[in-house]
Amino acid sequence: EFGAFSGVTNEYEQDDSTSYLVRDNDKCILCRRCVATCQKVSDVGVIETVKRGFSTHVACAFEEPLSDTKCVACGQCINVCPVGALSERSEVDNVLNALADPEKVVVVGAAPSVRAGLGEEFGYPIGTNVEGKMVQALRLMGFNYVFDVNFAADLTILEEGTELLGRLSNNGTLPMITSCSPGWIKYLEGVFPELIPNLSTCKSPQQMFGAVVKTFYAEKLGIDPKNIYVVSVMPCTAKKFEKLRADQSASGYPDVDAVLTTRELARAIKSMGIIFNDLPDGEYDMPLGLYTGAGVIFGSSGGVMEAALRTVADVVSGSDLEEIEYEEVRGMEEIKKSAYKVGDKEVKVAVASGLTNARKICEEIRDGKADYQFVEIMCCPGGCINGGGQPILDAYTRRNVDYREKRASVLYDIDKNCEARKSHKSTAVDAVYKEMFEKPGSHKAHEVLHTSYVNRKK
Ligand code: SF4
Ligand code: SF4
Repeated sequence: EFGAFSGVTNEYEQDDSTSYLVRDNDKCILCRRCVATCQKVSDVGVIETVKRGFSTHVACAFEEPLSDTKCVACGQCINVCPVGALSERSEVDNVLNALADPEKVVVVGAAPSVRAGLGEEFGYPIGTNVEGKMVQALRLMGFNYVFDVNFAADLTILEEGTELLGRLSNNGTLPMITSCSPGWIKYLEGVFPELIPNLSTCKSPQQMFGAVVKTFYAEKLGIDPKNIYVVSVMPCTAKKFEKLRADQSASGYPDVDAVLTTRELARAIKSMGIIFNDLPDGEYDMPLGLYTGAGVIFGSSGGVMEAALRTVADVVSGSDLEEIEYEEVRGMEEIKKSAYKVGDKEVKVAVASGLTNARKICEEIRDGKADYQFVEIMCCPGGCINGGGQPILDAYTRRNVDYREKRASVLYDIDKNCEARKSHKSTAVDAVYKEMFEKPGSHKAHEVLHTSYVNRKK
């Protein structure tokens, strides 16, 4: 009668209090990898093992729901869980319902890192670019328009670069810190709210993408934005939190309606019976499917910095510079520092990924010891290519394979092969400014493409 699977088991209520993560302690084997990751990688330590002996389980302090803690939504705990006790809160059903709704025009865009990770879910080696198959799969799923969030990454650079130049010439708050990574934003709001004035006010590429689709493109199509359903595919779980933030509804409706992680997209493709590996390469819809090399490198740590420098250096020098590869800010080093000549000024920069490294930079700025003008911070170590929504790798691979470099190399290879490699050379971005925003940093651009932050320190 007594076997390996008989005996008493504990039963716990799932913690599904957040919009991005579900904890099912019934599956947990108490390895504590999530606990260590939350403390040592994500720097917030909002989960621990509580109680003793047979009652031991993972929980937040005082058994509070995760939504009431300083959890930054990074999803790094999901990526290390060996048994699937942690998962993103799925929005696949919402997306399938929207696709089946004849009233809805359903628009999709994927972030740079998705094309560098999605193939792993279908048996391709780490570091395989599956962009073409991904586009074709999205088309077969029934999306009305398949665009690219890379387009909005280029747009972000125009806005962020203009903001940086404005701060440099008007004695604005420096260093300016990038605002693309919602886990990082939530961390700063909760731990270093005194640095909110340093944050760029630019929305992230995901939110700019949705905002442009529901304003500029809705007008172009003559469709009421209430009938447009925007889906973004992200390597990130914090994007599910970001889409619900206040001040992210430029058209009067949420900029983004649903966020699928890379893993969720793979599940949806499989559930629809699409044979991903046999697909031919698909083509994006235009104009919002157009992007430059600068837009695609956003997915790797240092990519936003490099993309911004490419544009800012051209604008300040008034020329089309040939030196566009900023090697010093590339790579998986935890903190990278450098200085570049921009016109006749020297701009000192710092790049950090992973929140324990972000803390070091934040403390320097807070204590007046930082002399940088521009800082890029990404929540996840190595940047979005290692986001909490990317395919889960076993512990051996995580420890012994340079999977982050392999995924990042996909993005740098795409960049090298792009005809245009600077965001201000994007004809799609140019059209959006000509037809809607007039110029970067305009009043209208601020209304649609910028946002505000809140102090979450209790
Ligand atoms: S999502 Fe990130 S911050 Fe939240 S519990 Fe997991 S590791 Fe910690
Ligand atoms: S990583 Fe997964 S199995 Fe390990 S303690 Fe956390 S929830 Fe449990």
